Amino acid sequence: MTNKALIIGGGIAGPVTAMALQRAGIDSEVFEAYDRGADGVGAFLTLAVNGLEALRLLDLHDLVCDLGMDSPVMEMLNARGKLLATTRQPSRTLRRADLYQALRDEAVRRGVRIHYGRRLVDASATSNGVRAVFADGSEAEGDLLVGADGLRSRTRALIDPAPPAPGTSGC
Ligand SMILES: Cc1cc2nc3c(=O)[nH]c(=O)nc-3n(C[C@H](O)[C@H](O)[C@H](O)COP(=O)(O)OP(=O)(O)OC[C@H]3O[C@@H](n4cnc5c(N)ncnc54)[C@H](O)[C@@H]3O)c2cc1C
Repeated sequence: MTNKALIIGGGIAGPVTAMALQRAGIDSEVFEAYDRGADGVGAFLTLAVNGLEALRLLDLHDLVCDLGMDSPVMEMLNARGKLLATTRQPSRTLRRADLYQALRDEAVRRGVRIHYGRRLVDASATSNGVRAVFADGSEAEGDLLVGADGLRSRTRALIDPAPPAPGTSGC
């Protein structure tokens, strides 16, 4: 049985994953590389209908719907301005910092522990779980390692040393 998950990355996905695991009875700790939260950092992003539904399942929907504005139509353009796609569905556009802060604060309110200044550099399997090693020399042990450390995920690189590189669609 899984008792404790180590979640790498305290951005958007990390705190939400911790709250989802909590629902499943799994304790977790979040490890964020930076020595502080990303309050006030970033511009806007749009949560599409599937993202809103995922938050609804965790009773986080009302929290984010008090932020930002409705975006019923979304157009995707390439770098030359050519229209690639139009979607018409209920979406919400909000400041990344507001979304981050609301989710982080709610996770903390629900008892999630977030550690700052803990950049994952290595991980290895132990006889009964996993050990994570951080740049400051500290370590943590758990039953499960979850990568929520963004586009250039160190966790993913440790699990799959030769993953496809992130790139643009080229259109
Ligand atoms: C500060 C910041 C501002 C952003 N602003 C915007 C924006 O304005 N508009 C937009 O569309 N998108 C923005 N993004 C990207 C967007 O938030 C993400 O692509 C999206 O929300 C996916 O969330 P995520 O949790 O998977 O990744 P992210 O939100 O990227 O979070 C990943 C987290 O993992 C941490 N991390 C990375 N490597 C390690 C490691 N080795 N060990 C521990 N922690 C690690 C990062 O510091 C970060 O906090 C921003 C990302 C960040 C980090």
